[in-house]
Amino acid sequence: MKKLSLSIMLCILALSISSVKTKNPAVLITGGAGYIGSHTAYLMAQKGYEVILLDSLEHGQTFDHSWATCIKSDFADKKILKQIFETYDVEAVMHFAGFIEVGESVKNPIRFYENNVVKTIKLLKIMIAHDVKKFIFSSSCAVYGNPQWLPLTEDHPKNPISPYGKNKLMVEMALQDFDKAYGLHYVALRYFNAAGAMPELGLGENHNPETHLIPIVLRAIIEKRPFYIFGTDYDTKDGSCIRDFIHVRDLAQAHWLALEYLNKGNCSECFNLGTGSGFSVKEVCNAVEKVCNHKLNILQKDRREGDPPMLIANPKKAKEVLGWQAQYSDLEHILKTAYEFTIQYRPSFIPPIKYDNYLKLCKKP
Ligand code: UDP
Repeated sequence: MKKLSLSIMLCILALSISSVKTKNPAVLITGGAGYIGSHTAYLMAQKGYEVILLDSLEHGQTFDHSWATCIKSDFADKKILKQIFETYDVEAVMHFAGFIEVGESVKNPIRFYENNVVKTIKLLKIMIAHDVKKFIFSSSCAVYGNPQWLPLTEDHPKNPISPYGKNKLMVEMALQDFDKAYGLHYVALRYFNAAGAMPELGLGENHNPETHLIPIVLRAIIEKRPFYIFGTDYDTKDGSCIRDFIHVRDLAQAHWLALEYLNKGNCSECFNLGTGSGFSVKEVCNAVEKVCNHKLNILQKDRREGDPPMLIANPKKAKEVLGWQAQYSDLEHILKTAYEFTIQYRPSFIPPIKYDNYLKLCKKP
């Protein structure tokens, strides 16, 4: 009841802000309270867009961003979407909302197919009906499955091994057909391992439940708990998995460039977003110890099901076509921002960063 009335209040507030179409072009950001959505929303506001955030807030997030109109709602709610499209001059939709836990997608695929595929198709249908025909989609390197070659290029065969990866690929396939049939122009951005934060804005990674490496390692240090490495017998340089970590600010930048790209009348495309180099789980642990100046208690566990040994992007296409290049994805910078966010998010955790130590490591202040 409390939830419902809050939702209604937010909607009324949001929609009463403007009863006529606004001057600045607007961008609708689904999942705008989430990790990558919130960073992108901030950047889009900086770029002069009217930013409308739509989020169900079902994982306990909050949003009170002065730079955006925040609406608590399901992203496929026909009524709300209709009101938004009739109120604002929405140039594009950036679609971040979706379930992301790969393991959970294996256990409960119906939930994932319903949310990530069926509801996304509903959203697209409503967009098309309102003549909103630019779409930036949060896709994933999970569409490739186990790599046949590295670094991964966009034309690598698509053999996703989890329902989550299949969801992303299905939406990409639907987008191809919707482009041909309805003139919906899209860019699908295949993220590698999103990481880092903007602690100065209170934005960072805060999934519930958290399954990702960097926030888990940081919390292990802060909470003085052991960290478990899933698999140390992979055919990699040190036996642990290797991943390509990309700072969330770089991902945000790619979304803006993708919209610029569509605005110039270019055709629909998909792009890998990664740095082109990888770090092993053990290397990440070592770097965290240095940045935090604390020793980790590392314990070895069996491999986690469905983890490919190595995932590294070839980001050449994004560089050549979008003019995108990672600027903030130096590992130490990623870890420092993530650590500061974690401390800020749970102030009781401390310990503080040893800045002398950090500055020696960090190439990008
Ligand atoms: N990982 C780990 N311990 C953890 C969490 C993750 O060893 O507590 C490993 C995981 O097995 C994978 C890597 O860290 O090899 C990256 O996992 P994450 O879930 O962050 O990203 P993914 O690449 O699976 O999307």
